[in-house]
Amino acid sequence: MNYRHAFHAGNFADCVKHALLIALLRALLKKPAPLFVLDTHAGAGHYDLESGPAARTREAATGITRLLDLTPGSLEDYVTIVRGLGLYPGSPELIRALLRPDDRLACCELHPEEYVALRRRFRQDPQVAVHQRDGWEALKALLPPRQKRGLILIDPPYEDPTEYLRLADGLKLAHSRFPGGVIAAWYPAKRRASVRAFMASLSLRDVIVAEFLLREPLDPTRLNGCGLVIVNPPYRFEEAARPIMDGLLNRLSCREPGESATITRLADE
Ligand code: SAM
Repeated sequence: MNYRHAFHAGNFADCVKHALLIALLRALLKKPAPLFVLDTHAGAGHYDLESGPAARTREAATGITRLLDLTPGSLEDYVTIVRGLGLYPGSPELIRALLRPDDRLACCELHPEEYVALRRRFRQDPQVAVHQRDGWEALKALLPPRQKRGLILIDPPYEDPTEYLRLADGLKLAHSRFPGGVIAAWYPAKRRASVRAFMASLSLRDVIVAEFLLREPLDPTRLNGCGLVIVNPPYRFEEAARPIMDGLLNRLSCREPGESATITRLADE
């Protein structure tokens, strides 16, 4: 377990994932029934961009820093929440910021230090459970939830080349345990061939893919882009996500050939 999200916090890939995560939650929160959210690879919860690992890599300079001065537009909701939370918020903080009193969040994090930081953050919070357990295993153990509606965020570190295969299996498992749940899984776009093979291995119905590319995904040594696979997307989510993807590309573009921000339906309902 070498991966530490602090080195990458607030980079373009976090902006894509987190802006779409907020939009997914907003769509789900339109209905009054209580919501359960499972964050299988939660990280530390928040990150200081001014010192430590994030300041060393400066990845946020081409990510959230480019968005913070935004005037109203499609990214306003995400940026306003980030500004309001102070340190750069990871997925658990962003999710928690939107929960209503009857909604619940369960977070899984295996790394001992990240787990301790996350646990400390939510120690007094009756709506949030923090587990030091394997997020893949939690898909079986924590699903289905008592609540009938839910969102599962799967955001593994991809330290291991087999992680795409694990993700395909994880999506299948999560869907079989909780067929009505919305599942969002982040993936890196380094090489087009790996992404295509992953997509071809998915055998679920009602799947969309929001993919953000800074350049052609040809060089496997660079994070050329990323995407979110969404199973059971909320009603009219594509329409809500379109301007968000356009806004991200407009602000985060590196002006390189092959950039794009697309939303594709991979499988019909
Ligand atoms: N979701 C977080 C966010 O958006 O702020 C970032 C998560 S980071 C990409 C992946 C995290 O998963 C790391 O903190 C890592 O320690 C943790 N991790 C790695 N393998 C895990 C596993 N099998 N189960 C749970 N957590 C794991």
